[in-house]
Amino acid sequence: MADLRYHVDGDLVPADEATVSVRDRGFMYGDAVFETLRAYGEEVFRWDAHAERLARSAAAIELDHGLDSGELKRRIDETLRANDLEDAYVKLSVTRGVQPGKLTPSPDVDPTVVVQAKPLPRGGVDAEPIWDGPATLQTVKTRRVPDAAIPSQAKTHNYLNGILARLELRVSDADEAVMLDADGHLAEGATSNLFFVDGDALCTPSLDGPVLPGITREEVLDIAGQEGIPVNEGSFTPEDLRDAEEAFVTNTTWEVRPVETVDGINIGGGPVTTLFQRVYDARIEREHYGGERI
Ligand code: PLP
Repeated sequence: MADLRYHVDGDLVPADEATVSVRDRGFMYGDAVFETLRAYGEEVFRWDAHAERLARSAAAIELDHGLDSGELKRRIDETLRANDLEDAYVKLSVTRGVQPGKLTPSPDVDPTVVVQAKPLPRGGVDAEPIWDGPATLQTVKTRRVPDAAIPSQAKTHNYLNGILARLELRVSDADEAVMLDADGHLAEGATSNLFFVDGDALCTPSLDGPVLPGITREEVLDIAGQEGIPVNEGSFTPEDLRDAEEAFVTNTTWEVRPVETVDGINIGGGPVTTLFQRVYDARIEREHYGGERI
């Protein structure tokens, strides 16, 4: 890791020396937006979707950073090439930068832009997954911040909500925290979207609730359409998840990860989860490695 180089404000610098100002608003207040991406075979997966979400996040917090999607992609590509990374975890952050010391942001933004990348061996259903087995989930007391407080579609550096949720896992040692909305309905994981199987249907909390529109979530819904699997995007209770026939969580790093238990109750993967894993993997194989579709 010591040899890795990160992109900081247009320059590639050794990761150990990559720093931002203590007066940066991203550091001081979490006043920044970011994307976590994965590169397969030197190319980031679903760049357009990530670029659009970053733009929506920036708009939601009125951060007019002035960088277009092509320039951001150029910096990501440069970071991947500089580190000779083919399959990688990539994090792109854009902060509101340093401004005069007051909470109210100024419209004059000199953003701080950072790209971090590190090797991440490719997983997939037939290879060693990058996660350590199916996920164990625990419903936590920490509620998902309502959309009316912090826009749920914005992926910002302010991750205290998820951190507090994950802190609750210390006792059970579960992998992921299931957060409920203010009314006690399922929202999402601390860093993942939730899916479960009920009869014929694939169920997932709708984006009407406080749920980040995951890029992997979108891909799974697209796969469901392709495979003719009915989708129920709605409002669900923790019992619905605990009673599910199958469940899985999704994010860019975990891809489609089966759920083993919820609150200690066995769920386990199954044929539907395996189908989504296989098709997701096949799309990556086809688009990034020139492989055949399954
Ligand atoms: N929900 C939250 C709160 C997240 O932080 C993430 C990803 O980190 C996700 C969902 C999944 O999003 P994606 O599939 O775009 O990685």
